[in-house]
Amino acid sequence: PQRRWDVVVLGAGAAGLMCAAEAGKRGRSVLLLDHAERAGKKILISGGGRCNFTNLHCTPANFLSENPHFAKSALARYTPKDFVALVEMHRIPYHHKTLGQLFCDGSAQAIVTMLEAECRDAGVETRLRSAVERVERDADGFTVYTASGAVETRTVVVATGGLSIPKMGATGIGYDIARGFGLGIVEPRAALVPLTLPEPVLEHWAAISGVSAEVTATIVPAAKRRVAPPVFREKLLFTHRGVSGPAVLQASSYRAPGDLLRLDLAPGKNVFGPLLQPGARRDEPTTSALLRAHVSQRLSDRWLQANAPPDWKNRSLEQMEATLHAWTLPIAGDEGFSKAEVTRGGVSTADLDSATLQAKSVPGLAFIGEVVDVTGHLGGHNFQWAWASAFAAAQAL
Ligand code: FAD
Repeated sequence: PQRRWDVVVLGAGAAGLMCAAEAGKRGRSVLLLDHAERAGKKILISGGGRCNFTNLHCTPANFLSENPHFAKSALARYTPKDFVALVEMHRIPYHHKTLGQLFCDGSAQAIVTMLEAECRDAGVETRLRSAVERVERDADGFTVYTASGAVETRTVVVATGGLSIPKMGATGIGYDIARGFGLGIVEPRAALVPLTLPEPVLEHWAAISGVSAEVTATIVPAAKRRVAPPVFREKLLFTHRGVSGPAVLQASSYRAPGDLLRLDLAPGKNVFGPLLQPGARRDEPTTSALLRAHVSQRLSDRWLQANAPPDWKNRSLEQMEATLHAWTLPIAGDEGFSKAEVTRGGVSTADLDSATLQAKSVPGLAFIGEVVDVTGHLGGHNFQWAWASAFAAAQAL
């Protein structure tokens, strides 16, 4: 007779590997399935190949979700320190880069190797090149149908990720499974994604593609929101299609159609104040020199072309200062799932138990990682959610 597993985990990415290992450690028989030819492919390309595996300052405030409280339980039970302890136990050299972000000193492969070793030591059976097609409930559990046959199991963990980077193997199977069991889906959208500028604005700024600046960025909502989008202080990068860089990627996660992007090109600084001093020269070279003290020459030149004061009166100069700190750009759209680092939206948290990650209406069916409507900020928070949600789910299997 065919074997019935305690746990079948769908997707051997960050969350799936972690959950399989933890469930195995708890004595469960675990089968881990993935359609790819190797596990953890997204981990390998993450963080520029060095995997920003967690963030020391991770709190629930670093996540977007229709229910901002949902992630709290799992995040509290598996913290960045817990993951760091695992990394240290496997003697993987790492370093702190900036803003709490931890990266491997070497290749991200070390993280995949670590998780695979954890799975192996916990007796997990991994089957690669096994595309999951659907999941059905039966009398005492579930049947998982794959392209290479069906397996029976007491519980199922869906860890198939979001829609970002389809060429890396992302599929919408997790959402399909959730819908099949009647669970809600918050519309999946590209997040942590470069933004595009509409013509003719683009024409002016694409000329300085490749130029960066330290800014604050925030989304200005077209429609009133319950909570104002946060302000991010990081780098801005001009691209041939619009704007990118960490500050813009962070802001992009909060964008709705019609919203604007607001930038401060010299946060906390008074740039043009010297022009207001009695006897100061008020002309283009002086203005340009003042701005170049804060941003690169190319950005300064372009910005002053678009925002030169109509005259040299105090009011006009004060207005230019104000514009520099609240410079507002229209947004055409974003570069889509092929360029998005994550997918926001996903399986509705309203239908999941925050302690076990199982569907409230389908005990034994859990959803973890990016497939859930919990989306982290840039900087290691998405992996921390993958680890924490995986750990929480494993404790309940
Ligand atoms: P994934 O890691 O995407 O795993 C899902 C798995 O499911 C995959 O292995 C996939 O092959 C498998 N799968 C999908 N469909 C099927 C199917 N039908 N049958 C079988 N298997 C299937 N986050 C950070 O915190 N730090 C970073 O440095 C970072 N860098 C990133 C860089 C890039 C370029 C990208 C795209 C993302 C980055 N992220 C980073 C985000 C992070 O990679 C994801 O949030 C995280 O991998 C999500 O984990 P997951 O296990 O939920 O999904």
